[in-house]
Amino acid sequence: MKLQFYNTYSRQKEAFETLEEGVVRMYNCGPTVYGRVHIGNLRSFVFADVLRRSLEHFGYEVRQVMNITDVGHMVDDADEGEDKLVAQANKEGRDPWEISAGHAAQFLADLETLGFRPAMVYPKATDHIPEMLAMIEGLLESGHAYEVDGQVYFDVTSFERYGQLSGNRVEDLEGGARVEVRAEKRHHADFALWKSDPAHLMKWDSRFGPDGFPGWHIECSAMAAAHLGTQLDIHTGGEDNVFPHHECEIAQSEALSGKRFARFWMHAKFLQVDGGKMSKSLGNVYTIDDAVERGFEPRHLRFALLRGHYRQPLNFTWKVMEEARAFVENLDRLAQDLARLAAVDGAEGRGEALVETLRGDFDRAMADDLAMPRALAALSGLRQAVLDGELSGASAANGLEFLRAADGILGVVHFDDAGPGDDVEAQIAARNQARADKDWAESDRIRDELLAAGITLEDTPEGTIWRRG
Ligand code: AMP
Ligand code: ZN
Repeated sequence: MKLQFYNTYSRQKEAFETLEEGVVRMYNCGPTVYGRVHIGNLRSFVFADVLRRSLEHFGYEVRQVMNITDVGHMVDDADEGEDKLVAQANKEGRDPWEISAGHAAQFLADLETLGFRPAMVYPKATDHIPEMLAMIEGLLESGHAYEVDGQVYFDVTSFERYGQLSGNRVEDLEGGARVEVRAEKRHHADFALWKSDPAHLMKWDSRFGPDGFPGWHIECSAMAAAHLGTQLDIHTGGEDNVFPHHECEIAQSEALSGKRFARFWMHAKFLQVDGGKMSKSLGNVYTIDDAVERGFEPRHLRFALLRGHYRQPLNFTWKVMEEARAFVENLDRLAQDLARLAAVDGAEGRGEALVETLRGDFDRAMADDLAMPRALAALSGLRQAVLDGELSGASAANGLEFLRAADGILGVVHFDDAGPGDDVEAQIAARNQARADKDWAESDRIRDELLAAGITLEDTPEGTIWRRG
């Protein structure tokens, strides 16, 4: 099937093609690990995972890299303000390395909890300082960068296409509007590749001095090149990454290689909470734990974050989570119904053709710039077909196969033959033992633990049985 994606760079949908037949090189901007990732960050990452799974669904091999920013990301995204990690370290009175290591590990655990397919690698910026310095040397040699007292800047006037991605024109980029412009910059839009600051807590010795650290943008250019080469098929991020981050990445990478850095630039629109911006003061900077504490499963959150179109704003509320849970549970039931119906021989009516049409609708929707709401409508159609008694035998088996394929992208459905079956049996055996030992506390503990995982136990004369929900 022919795929097309909206390319931020050209501001239109374009036919998807790759540099190498059948292989997609994809780089996703990952988190800055000064805190735990929140559901806003997770929307951008879930979008990347859905994109990756969709590409695999359509037969591509995906080489996916998602970075971890653990130094150099300044509070205002540009060159001024404090490094987010250093600011956090000062606030907590802790070592920034310890903080970033903790949140990076938590980030990887959160991805697993939300059912992400693992990327090929999750590189950390601090592990790629030599590659960044090498790029910086290259840019200095080719006249795209200049050094002033240990600071190295990219000269935006040396790169004609600067502003192409974001639609900003160099002459319109006002200095001093949002941030103070450093006097040593030749042009107020020049951005830092390398910075020097004796007070910085994470620093590297280089020929620019002993107190250096990288600019945020060069990190992604260097990590992408190190793991995927100088040319990518897709580069993603949240919409706030378009400028300055991705604009600067393009300038650095293309000025140095002379080649087009990324063929497709894809950005997820921001997630809002209760119709507005998330903020600490409103107490709505939610994480996975907040959803779990309210009784939701992580997959309900995953679904709430992926059910809209990635280029439409998405509003998060606890009511939306209820709806997400209901939709996911309906898909669980659909899987059970289809499995049951597949074993029933019935006269094949129009069911077969119906399933084929719905499956085609789903694929066409995903192939058209990941039109998720349309794809989900095809699954609702499948459910309706079951409710209308249209499916049995072979058509139900095909319907189940369609649902499995669709869930290869969604990653939210529990199929009875998959999931925690063996685990549950082992837990039930442990609980039976506890009951035999009259260890009621232990027996209750196991029952509650399973309940929290969405498994209800029922003690019958024939033994203990379990069901979901
Ligand atoms: P950061 O940790 O600030 O580097 O952000 C990590 C990723 O999360 C970036 O790609 C951001 O664009 C994205 N992001 C941050 N806030 C939101 C939000 N509210 N909605 C969607 N994506 C976001
Ligand atoms: Zn990045």
